[in-house]
This record gives sequence, structure tokens and C-alpha cells, in this order.
Amino acid sequence: MKKFALSALVAAMAVTGTAQAGVTDKDIINDQMTTGDVVSNGMGLRGQRYSPMDKINTETVKDMRPVWAFSFGGEKQRGQESQPMVKDGVMYVTASYSRVFAVDTTTGEELWEYNARLPDGIMPCCDVINRGVALYDDLVIFGTLDAKLVALDAKTGKVKWKKKVEDYKAGYSITAAPIVVKGKVITGVSGGEFGIIGKVEAYDAKTGKLAWTRPTVEGHMGFIWKDGKKMENGISGGQAGKTWPGDLWKSGGAATWLGGTYDPDVDLLFFGTGNPAPWNSHLRPGDNLFSSSRVAIDPDTGKIVWHFQTTPHDGWDYDGVNELVSFDYKANGKTVKAAATADRNGFMYVLNRENGDFIRGFPFVDKITWAKGLDPKTGRPIYDDSNRPGNPADSKDGKKGKSVLAVPSFLGGKNWMPVSYSQDTGLFYVPSNEWAMDIWNEPTAYKKGAAYLGAGFTIKPMNDEYIGVLRAMDPKTGKEVWRKTNYAPLWGGALTTKGNLVFYGTPEGYLLGLNAKTGEEVYKFNTGSGIVGSPITWEQDGEQYLSVVSGWGGAVPLWGGEVAKRVKHLNQGGTVWTFKLPK
Ligand code: CA
Ligand code: CA
Repeated sequence: MKKFALSALVAAMAVTGTAQAGVTDKDIINDQMTTGDVVSNGMGLRGQRYSPMDKINTETVKDMRPVWAFSFGGEKQRGQESQPMVKDGVMYVTASYSRVFAVDTTTGEELWEYNARLPDGIMPCCDVINRGVALYDDLVIFGTLDAKLVALDAKTGKVKWKKKVEDYKAGYSITAAPIVVKGKVITGVSGGEFGIIGKVEAYDAKTGKLAWTRPTVEGHMGFIWKDGKKMENGISGGQAGKTWPGDLWKSGGAATWLGGTYDPDVDLLFFGTGNPAPWNSHLRPGDNLFSSSRVAIDPDTGKIVWHFQTTPHDGWDYDGVNELVSFDYKANGKTVKAAATADRNGFMYVLNRENGDFIRGFPFVDKITWAKGLDPKTGRPIYDDSNRPGNPADSKDGKKGKSVLAVPSFLGGKNWMPVSYSQDTGLFYVPSNEWAMDIWNEPTAYKKGAAYLGAGFTIKPMNDEYIGVLRAMDPKTGKEVWRKTNYAPLWGGALTTKGNLVFYGTPEGYLLGLNAKTGEEVYKFNTGSGIVGSPITWEQDGEQYLSVVSGWGGAVPLWGGEVAKRVKHLNQGGTVWTFKLPK
């Protein structure tokens, strides 16, 4: 296999006539507009998932057909949530169980495969998924389910460096794609259901040496390594006990499990943080900073520059991890440097990305019960106290608090699946879901490596006909411009193109293409298993290609209660599908 891989690569290089050049910082910053490669998660570090290509468009897309399909193989399948990357005729794509594959983009032949040897005791909360690699120089870098960063040689798949980011035995894991900014690989950590401490860390991408660390629970100090010395890099206003009672901050959660985006305009990293731990909010009165927030971080030092908390004192596991996507718009003749995010809690927020100021917020789902609305000045939710799950201490035996029917469910108005922003329509395309949950609190105490929820729940559909809704949202007005419903919950990302198209996948297996302006379905192809990954598009030899990973799984079958029953007939898989127009 190895011999074959090398010869295939040499042959590929001979065809293009150039040796494979390493990925540079410039390549990554310019990724969105350079159509010949995909070298960042999000199709550009801002995470817009927009391509300026238009060869595949509303007129031509009907002729688009698969040119190759690559199977991950193996006995174990499960959810495939990866976004592939493409550089110099090679695709780098991750699969379940911390696997990485390099595939020839012309033929679909495997060049190499890397399998992380995972210990028995890993504790991924929400399936054994991975969301993709980062590329830098001649390295392919990804995070593993046992909370390591691994850098592989892009040509051979051999390990160049490996770093333990955290202790998997305490519940840490990594599933997000890392990003590379100014030569540093930036990662978050998963584990919010185990009372871990969320953090964002930067490592020298070439050597794996730690550059800075930034915990996301108030009270924990961050550090930067400068000239061989460890120096504090000040958490803004952070102080143990200020927004947390007693020692609860010591196991406070706020996991940065979905990774982040970067905006070069304001030179800030944007990472989201998950739920405060435990879920039972009566055990931790206060805002519980920086949980369920977006934090803007200086990429050079790790300092938190601003934060915006979507669900202060979260009592529903709404997390706050969803991606913050930078975009500009015109208002009163001026350009507004904005960023938007569609939160698990059902509200979409438009912020000033320079300082985190709230510009506007609006629901993007049909029903929200936990809040009456948002404060128009600050964006802080106006709580409906009757919809907070009750305190077990108020019950007769102290074992179960009042159960409430909360909407959305904790799986969210939108979960991890990334939105897309079209520079042509000015709309956000939001893969969303309509579901509710019965949720109640129970007593709990922190124990290293054990689930730390203090809550029970059952997730329920809101409608018989559909759960998933792909929505076109106008960030200037808060209005839904169109919607397309789907029977099963949507769990994969969206992509828009200059060809006036929106692409996304469904658990039923379809890759769909819609007219971005109207929502009209103009393309449909079944990939044989549910799609929970995010499509990409790129150009090769003058032709536009599109790829998406197919393989049903993720959190829904594991946590979805009554919804899981509705989708239990869906088959697992693990295949990269690649499409183009006929020549
Ligand atoms: Ca590019
Ligand atoms: Ca959570």
C-alpha cells in the first residue's frame, strides 16, 4: 500500500509539473477567494462557507454527477461530520474514531491512512466523530478522541509531532477541526458533560510547542510562554467566585468543543463556549462566566478581548458554541463590521465584531419557551422563570425537581452544523430543527471522569411532518426569507456559491441543491447513508468540483429520545462523494 501511495503521488506531481508546495499563512487567509484549494475549515477562516465559483449554477447543476466515491472502510462506522480539505490534487479528510485519509482528488484512490490508537477509556459525549483537519506547511493536523493534537506528514501520513492537550480520563476529547492562524494551531476541547474546564490553546504549528493557554471559566488563569518564561495573560475581569458560587468554578465546564473562527480585519479569534456544569442551574446561582458565550481572543497572546453571553446561568444545556461568522453590511451609508451566530437557544444574534456589542437578535425557530425575548439594548434574555427546570431541593424527597417542556430542546434550534453566508444574497442559510424536551433536575456532585449533569430529559418532535428546516435568514431584518423542511433533523453544514446555490445534506442521505434566492430545489442525489458533514467546492483543471462526506450518526441517535426512534431506520456509512459537471 505504501509503495503504491508514493508512486501515485509522484505520478500526480509529474502531471502538474510542480512539487507539492506547503500551505502558508497567506494561503489560509486568502482561502475563500482562491478556488484551486480548500485549506481552512469554514471555506475561509471567517466561516462563511461561500465560494465565488459559478460554473455549477442554477442552470447547470441538473447535470452534476458523481465522479468518484471513497469508502472509509473499517468495521466501525458511526457519524461522519468531517469537512474535507483539498491541496495540490490531494484531499485530506477525517473519519469516525480519529482517522485521517489522504485521497487523490482525480481518481478517488487512497494515498495514505492514519488511525489513531485510541485507549479504551475515551469519553466522547456525542458520538466518535471528527470534524476535520488543519493544513500548515507540509503538515496535516487534527485532534483525537483522547484529547491529543497530532501532526502528520502530508506526503506520507507519518506522525511528525503529537501533543497531549488534556487528560481523556477526566472527560476531555477533541472532535473539532483545529484552525491555523499566524503559524499557530488553535484548538478547543470537548467534555462539558463531565465538568471539565473549557480552554482555547495555541501551539506552534511546525513544532507543536505550546504558545498560550486560555481557560474559559472565570477564575482560572491563562498563560503565555515568552522567551522561555511562563507569564499570566490576564482573563478580562476574571475572578474566582465572582459569577460562580463557592468552588463550582473548579469544574465549571464551558467546553470550547466546536473550535472557532478568525477574522483578519479585527485580528480576533472567535470561540464559543458550552454549558456551565452541571446542567442543574440551581446548584450555581450567577451568570457563570464565560459559559454559553462567544469569546473574542487575541491570537498572539490568548487574552480575552471581549465576550458576549447568549444564555447567562444556562439551565437547559443550550451551550454557546455555535460558530460566529464575520460579514459586512451597509447601514446608513456606512459599513458595519458585524458577525452573526445562530444559537442553540433559538435566537440568532448579530454583534459588532470589533467590540462584541449587541446589534440585534431575533428568533430563527418557530417557538421559544424559556425566554420571553431579548433585551433590545443588551441582548440579554428576558427569562420566563416558570420554564426553568425546577430545583430538586423543592421537591418532597429532594430527588427530582419540577419537569418543564422547554423549546428548543438542548440539541438546539441549531446544533454544531455550520451555517453559510452568501455574499450575493446577503442571507444566512441556517440548518435548524424544531424540537422540544421534557427536562428536570436531579441532585449531583462532581466526580472526575463521570457524567456531571444533574438533569434528565426526553427530546420530542414539534411536528409530525418535519423536524429539520433549512432557513434563509436576513441578518438585517431578522426575517425568514424562505424555508425548506425535512422529515429528519438536519445535522450537516451548508455551503453557498456564486452560482446562486445552497448545498446541504440530510439524514435520509440526500445531497440537496437549492436556489439561494428562492429555496427552490434544483438538485437531489442520494449518497446511501445520512449526511452529517459539510460540503466543499473547489476548482481543478478548469472544472468545478463538489465533495461531501456521507455517514449517518452524531448526537441525535444517542440523545434524541423520541426523535431517535423516528430515525432509527437510517443506515450508517462512511463515504466521500465527489461531483462535477460532465466535460
Ligand atoms: Ca482556497
Ligand atoms: Ca453541553
